[in-house]
Amino acid sequence: MTKQKSFFHISHSTETRLGIFIIALLVISWGVYKIEHTVSSTPAISVPAPIALPITGTQAASVVPAVSVIQAVSQKEIVYADKTKKQVVFTFDGGAGAQSTEEILRILAKHHVKGTFFLTGKFIETYPALVKSIRQAGHEIFNHTYSHPYLTKSSDENIGIELRTMEQRLKDVIGISPKPYFRPPYGDRDARVLAAAFKEGYQSVYWSTDALDWKETSGITGAEVTKRILSNLTPGAIYLMHLGDTITGAILDDVFTVIESKGYAIVSLTEAL
Ligand SMILES: [Zn+2]
Repeated sequence: MTKQKSFFHISHSTETRLGIFIIALLVISWGVYKIEHTVSSTPAISVPAPIALPITGTQAASVVPAVSVIQAVSQKEIVYADKTKKQVVFTFDGGAGAQSTEEILRILAKHHVKGTFFLTGKFIETYPALVKSIRQAGHEIFNHTYSHPYLTKSSDENIGIELRTMEQRLKDVIGISPKPYFRPPYGDRDARVLAAAFKEGYQSVYWSTDALDWKETSGITGAEVTKRILSNLTPGAIYLMHLGDTITGAILDDVFTVIESKGYAIVSLTEAL
């Protein structure tokens, strides 16, 4: 009698191997699905909890473990924080001027709010004492490039230089890295800019509402900026404001009071993602 071989007449060991192969395929497929789902589901992707690095030797005095040791986990831009929570984020960009900085720090302390600052390297060079105050108060500091250029007009190489130079300035002054978040100056970015920044370890943080405080020189008033902020109040909102005008320092206390009275928490970027 000739031995018949068919798909259903396979030896036990082959069956076992086939079973293991199928299970392995399922596990790999599930893993790939999880990775894709995690990366692409929402712009406000979740970020791993801050990693506290062991501090040793001579570095102990100057290097503080911070959220900033984390590398970017996605090159997808953040526009909103977690929309399922009744909380909002105020971000303060520092480039040319610092007029509102001390007042902002006072108001953040008064309301027990952790703020989020995007600073340029030039700001750090000009106002090192303010940068130290921001850090000492426990706020978060991220990268706003060194010289505030239009990044869509910058080469990949220059984008890298801009981000690394700011990072070095911040390390020089307070011993921490601004990774993993950066904000493109003027909001000027495209897919190429995001990819180039991601290669450097950064994820872009845009905003859901530009408060337009920077239009102070064109005549916008504190009342108009306040109205703009409050009319765009929504869970997960990320507000863009600036250190270099006087409107922010003048209105922020009242703005925080109103937002808190509506049951919202004001939190930092990493608290809100
Ligand atoms: Zn800016």
